[in-house]
Amino acid sequence: MSQTVTEFGVHDIRFPTSEQLDGSDAMNPDPDYSAAYVVLRTDEGAEGHGFCFTIGRGNDVLAAAIEALRPYVVGRRAPRTAADLAALHIELTHDSQLRWLGPEKGVMHMAAGAVINAAWDLAAKAAGLPVWEFLAGMTPEELVSLVDFRYLTDALTPAEALEILRAAEPGRAERAARLRAEGYPAYTTSPGWLGYDDNKLVTLAEQAVADGFQQIKLKVGGDLDDDVRRMKLARAAVGPDIRIAVDANQRWDVPDAIRWMTALAPHEPHWIEEPTSPDDILGHAAVRAGQPVKVATGEHVANRVVFKQLLQAEAVDFVQIDAARVAGVNENLAILLLAAKYGKPVCPHAGGVGLCELVQHLAMFDYVAVSGTWEDRVIEYVDHLHEHFTDPVVIDSGRYVAPGAPGFSARMHPESMAAHRYPEGPVWQARRTTEEVNS
Ligand SMILES: [Mg+2]
Repeated sequence: MSQTVTEFGVHDIRFPTSEQLDGSDAMNPDPDYSAAYVVLRTDEGAEGHGFCFTIGRGNDVLAAAIEALRPYVVGRRAPRTAADLAALHIELTHDSQLRWLGPEKGVMHMAAGAVINAAWDLAAKAAGLPVWEFLAGMTPEELVSLVDFRYLTDALTPAEALEILRAAEPGRAERAARLRAEGYPAYTTSPGWLGYDDNKLVTLAEQAVADGFQQIKLKVGGDLDDDVRRMKLARAAVGPDIRIAVDANQRWDVPDAIRWMTALAPHEPHWIEEPTSPDDILGHAAVRAGQPVKVATGEHVANRVVFKQLLQAEAVDFVQIDAARVAGVNENLAILLLAAKYGKPVCPHAGGVGLCELVQHLAMFDYVAVSGTWEDRVIEYVDHLHEHFTDPVVIDSGRYVAPGAPGFSARMHPESMAAHRYPEGPVWQARRTTEEVNS
């Protein structure tokens, strides 16, 4: 029986994380982790949940952009198949008037991603499968049909994509079984926030190793002497065999990035993440050529076209997809295929609120049905705010346990949403009262 989407609820949800300096880095000193959140509901009561991640102010702008997509979804047959999900993706990203606001970048594009991901949640639930398995159960032809190849064919044609997916088809069942048994490799950013003091850094780095992680990450880019000191402390804490990635969160111009990373290189950072502007493809290529540390980027890359150019220009060593910045599962599938074509490992960005929950599905699908390997691949893990989700990620011995619940792991507890609704939820009302008393 076909169902119809009858309700489209948009919510501005914010967590006051800036109180603890969790998530602090060289560009983002006081984030309040937030979600512009959408719930699709059908006439039979099925729900699809999706969201974009922001760090506070502006979450209302994104919620308004999601609201602008309501007419595309309400009254529509609930998406079930690859064809349904391909059609929705094209309609949301090709609307000529809304497209003017990008094209295919920024707030409107992120909003389309939230709605597309909610549609995937709905469709995977209807199929009774987690999104990674729902995707991995599609034929190569269906997967190719989900991708918008506009602007890609100089680097990746539909025929080449089909070839990549067909090549990975024979081992799918075996890899899915291995994934269920062993989980997918993770790394942790929890020790490395820039607002943490040296003691907290060392304690958390030691804890990460004890917990089974093979890689940690430090935020850098505030002060070079501080970063060298913190890098030495972290290296002493974890030993020579644990990888330490560093992340500048776009802090530098190209010459600064080269100078800074040349100074940190003796301590063997595994990669330098977001050394400069996410739009600067040639800048990333120059950083990669100008110092010895491998380059990673992607969490702020606006769309598949920029990823294509980063790969064409040999500007990156690691491709960092984000589940909630581009236009949902469909565009991330394009990026996974591009990375496979160019032979670059995908190491997803996560953390924030709910990003670990979402992106694990894409990395696991990549392992099963696209790249066919987890060699050199790790999903970021940050231990914040998972308790607000009904199917939170599970980490065991430094690996993501494959989710088994149907859908995209995107559903937030109704009580968490009610408490953190901005500005009227009780968490924000109490904070306002405290500020008034203190002022
Ligand atoms: Mg980062």
